[in-house]
Amino acid sequence: MTRFIFITGGVVSSLGKGLAAAALGAILQARGFKVRLRKLDPYINVDPGTMSPYQHGEVYVTDDGAETDLDLGHYERFTGVAARQSDNITTGRIYSDVIARERRGDYLGATIQVIPHITDAIKEFILSDLGDEDFILCEIGGTVGDIESLPFLEAIRQLGNELGERAMYIHVTLLPFIQAAGELKTKPTQHSVKELLSVGIQPDLLLCRAEHKIPQGELRKIALFCNVRVEAVIPALDVDTIYAAPISYHVEGLDDQVCRHFGIDAPGPDLSRWRDIVDRVTKPEGGATIAIVGKYTGLLDAYKSLSEALVHGGIANNVRVNMKWIEAEIFEREDTVDHLDGVHGILVPGGFGERGAKGKIAAACFARERAIPYFGICLGMQMAVVELARSLAGIKDAGSTEFGVCKEPVIGLMTEWMREGIVEKRQTNGDLGGTMRLGAYEACLRRKSRILAIYDSETIVERHRHRYEVNTRYLDVLEKAGIHFSGMSPDGVLPEIVELPSHPWFIGVQFHPELKSKPFDPHPLFTSFVGAAIDQARLV
Ligand code: GLN
Repeated sequence: MTRFIFITGGVVSSLGKGLAAAALGAILQARGFKVRLRKLDPYINVDPGTMSPYQHGEVYVTDDGAETDLDLGHYERFTGVAARQSDNITTGRIYSDVIARERRGDYLGATIQVIPHITDAIKEFILSDLGDEDFILCEIGGTVGDIESLPFLEAIRQLGNELGERAMYIHVTLLPFIQAAGELKTKPTQHSVKELLSVGIQPDLLLCRAEHKIPQGELRKIALFCNVRVEAVIPALDVDTIYAAPISYHVEGLDDQVCRHFGIDAPGPDLSRWRDIVDRVTKPEGGATIAIVGKYTGLLDAYKSLSEALVHGGIANNVRVNMKWIEAEIFEREDTVDHLDGVHGILVPGGFGERGAKGKIAAACFARERAIPYFGICLGMQMAVVELARSLAGIKDAGSTEFGVCKEPVIGLMTEWMREGIVEKRQTNGDLGGTMRLGAYEACLRRKSRILAIYDSETIVERHRHRYEVNTRYLDVLEKAGIHFSGMSPDGVLPEIVELPSHPWFIGVQFHPELKSKPFDPHPLFTSFVGAAIDQARLV
């Protein structure tokens, strides 16, 4: 008896629809239900893997190696349910599947149309790959009224008919506050619901985002004009921390209304987990400042999982993490000390391409020389290895072939080494030359290493998204210089973790630990890094 909740957004984009869906998922879970969340994206890219982080925010990678929308990160952080390839679909993927079927002749000569062929493919996706979930929450990307989202809306309209009492429509809207009039306005919500009605969808519940408390009279007005019961017009006011959303929505009656819609009589939610998290976020004991030296710092959505993982590290240590975002390129013009002096930790995140690389190397150098905790993730690890190779192992020309031909390629492509016979041809989960190493891979940790103490486990599984690797040809000389590769792929070929035992906390990882961190289960690397930054803050 799986039930489906379709979540659409109106009035403006960036309403926090993804967070709202994630928070509802968390409350339903807290009432004892099994949930799964899915995202339908109306853009024509097959997946967001090739989209600029500036346009689309971060690409969230799943265990099964899918490059997906960042909302799947919210879903996973709020529910702990590991997202899968089959939880995110785009117009591009739907069309390419339908066209491939058409080319194969699967449609037996029929004329292929948006309705029913595209809408059928969308419905198939929504209903596919399910288990014994009580609820599937299905978020439609974009804003109602966009041309792109029409086939998705038509598909969920049809599904509403087919599923009957097992379907529910939630519309997330905005009540803008007009300063001059001192009023919250309901008209955009009315228009947005009208737009939904024009495609045949009557929302069952409205989640109204607002900066200020919504007067009862306005809630009644919305109910009347939008043909929704007044109890099902739920205020969603701004909260101090996103992790307060499950509590706030519950207080406003969201989950009770959902249960009522489906005629379910279920015990109330146990939200103690969320209360504890909110307590820790809003009442920290002390804090530390962490500099994040990256390439897309102009759009913080580009580092969504990373900034959340730092918050989680703060939760674990009961401290506030102040994030100082620094564009790496600035170190090509200005001195590192002008920006990094006084920070308690330096994190260089993942990224692609040469822009900012010099600045990242300079940041790693600063952290090493001044004994400031350093955390390098993916490209941040690779740049640290380049820095350490140059300064500790005396390999002056150390570099990465990602940025062109280089004399001492300490970072390069596996295929380059196979060609040169440095590593034997090996069976991999794909061609490591041209394509990305994507998704979950195992790594084995070295005994008596810092990383083993942090994870407290000899094998770990983490998510990857990269093409380049540390060149095994240099391992011996780097190890001799005191640079330890304390985590390797199980076959011992690919270095996954680098650490500097002579430094208080200097760790680089080839994978993306931020993708698996949760507020109720902070990632051990972030817990340890923030802890080291706190120690550093006590020193200065
Ligand atoms: N650009 C690097 C690579 O492809 C690092 C990728 C990343 O940081 N995600 O290997």
